[in-house]
Amino acid sequence: MKYWCPLAWLPSRVASGVLVSEVDGVITSVGSATDPGDAIVLPGLVFPGFANAHSHAFHRALRGRTHGDGGTFWTWREKMYDLADRLDPDSYYLLARAVYAEMALAGITCVGEFHYLHHAPGGARYRDPNAMGHALIAAAQDAGIRITLLDTCYLAGGIDQPVSLTQQRFSDGDVFAWAARVAELRPASHARIGAAIHSVRAVPRAALPVVAGFDGPVHVHLSEQPAENDACLSAYGRTPTELLADAGALGERLTAVHATHLTASDVSLLGSSRTGACFCPTTEADLADGIGPARELVDAGSPLSLGSDQHAVIDMLLEARAVEHGERLRTGQRGRFTVSELVAAMTAHTALGWPEAGRIEVGAPADLVAVRLDTVRTAGSLPEQAVLAATASDVDTVVVGGRVVVRGGGHALGDIGPLLAEAIG
Ligand SMILES: [Zn+2]
Repeated sequence: MKYWCPLAWLPSRVASGVLVSEVDGVITSVGSATDPGDAIVLPGLVFPGFANAHSHAFHRALRGRTHGDGGTFWTWREKMYDLADRLDPDSYYLLARAVYAEMALAGITCVGEFHYLHHAPGGARYRDPNAMGHALIAAAQDAGIRITLLDTCYLAGGIDQPVSLTQQRFSDGDVFAWAARVAELRPASHARIGAAIHSVRAVPRAALPVVAGFDGPVHVHLSEQPAENDACLSAYGRTPTELLADAGALGERLTAVHATHLTASDVSLLGSSRTGACFCPTTEADLADGIGPARELVDAGSPLSLGSDQHAVIDMLLEARAVEHGERLRTGQRGRFTVSELVAAMTAHTALGWPEAGRIEVGAPADLVAVRLDTVRTAGSLPEQAVLAATASDVDTVVVGGRVVVRGGGHALGDIGPLLAEAIG
C-alpha cells in the first residue's frame, strides 16, 4: 500500500509531498512526490503513530463523575476502587475495547496498559489467571491498536500493610507468584509484555529487584503524591527514587511515571541512569498532584514519554501541550520544550518496548496519523507549530501497521460514543 502526505513529520524536518510505501505493515520507502498518483491521500500533517505510555483503561469510566464534591487524590481513589469491584473479564473487554477505540480516534497507535486488576473479587483466581490481561490484549486488537501489557506487581496496601478487600484483586500474594503468572501471558503480533512496580507503597523493598529484573520494559508510579514520599522516608529513610536505586531498578529499561515530587538528587539519579520519565499532565492537573520537573529530568538525561493515565481526556496533543504549559506556569518562560521535543515525547515507543516504532522511516511500522490543518482549531497554524494548536478532534486518518483504523475521523468499529456509554452504563 502507498500513502501520500501533503506534509509529513519526518525524523529531521517537516517535509511536503511525501510518498510512504509499506509492505506487510512495515515502511519500505519514504520518498518525495508532487502528486499522489494511485496512493491513498492522508490529509493535513502526517505524524508517526502516537504512543500513550501510561493507561489504566478502566479509569475511563470515572470521567466526568468525580468532581461533585471536590476531594483529594485519595477520595478519588475510593471511587476508583468502587469501580474496580464491578469488573470481570467480559465487561472489562467491552470497556477497554471502547477506550482503546477512543485512543485510536486520537491518533494513539500503541498503548502502555499499566494493568493491576488481575483477579476476581476477593482475590479468587480466574480459570485463566491472566483472563483480565488477555481481555485487554484482545480489546486492543479489536480496536486496531498495539498494546504493551505492563503487568503490575501489587502486593501491599501501604508500606508494611496488608492489602484491603478491594486490593485483593490486585495481589498475587508474593512476588514469585506474580512472576509465575506473568510468565504465562501470551504476547501477539500487536501485543508485547512488560512489567510494572505499582509503587514503593504497594511493592515491598525485598520484591523490587525481582520485578525490576523483568526482561522487557518496566514501569513504576513514582512520587506522584507527597504522602508517598513521606511514607517511604519514614519507613526506609530514603526517597522512593533512592529506594529504587538501592534495589538496582534504575536504568534505560525503567520508566518512572509522574515523577512529580522529586529532590534535586532524585532528578540526578534518574537522569544519569537514563531512566525514562512518563508525564501525565492532564491527570496530574485533574488530581491536583502538582507539576513535575520535566525540563530538569530531560536535561539530566531522562527520555520523556506521555500518558493519559486515568483518561480525564484522551488526547496526546493536549498532554504534550500541558507539559509545556506546566513549564511556562512554573517558570514564567515560554518555549521550555521545542516542538520537536514534544513530538518525540508523543511518539516515544521505546518506553513501551517498541523501539522500531515512532518514526516515519524505512523499517518502522507503518503507523501514521493525519492531523487536519484546515479545521476551526488549526486553520492558519504553521505546520511546524500545529502541535500547539491541534487537538484529538483534528485527527482525520489513522493507519496502524498498514491498516486504516480511522478514516475521516470515524473508527472502523463505528460510532464509539455509544460503545463507551454502553460499557460504562
Ligand atoms: Zn497510573
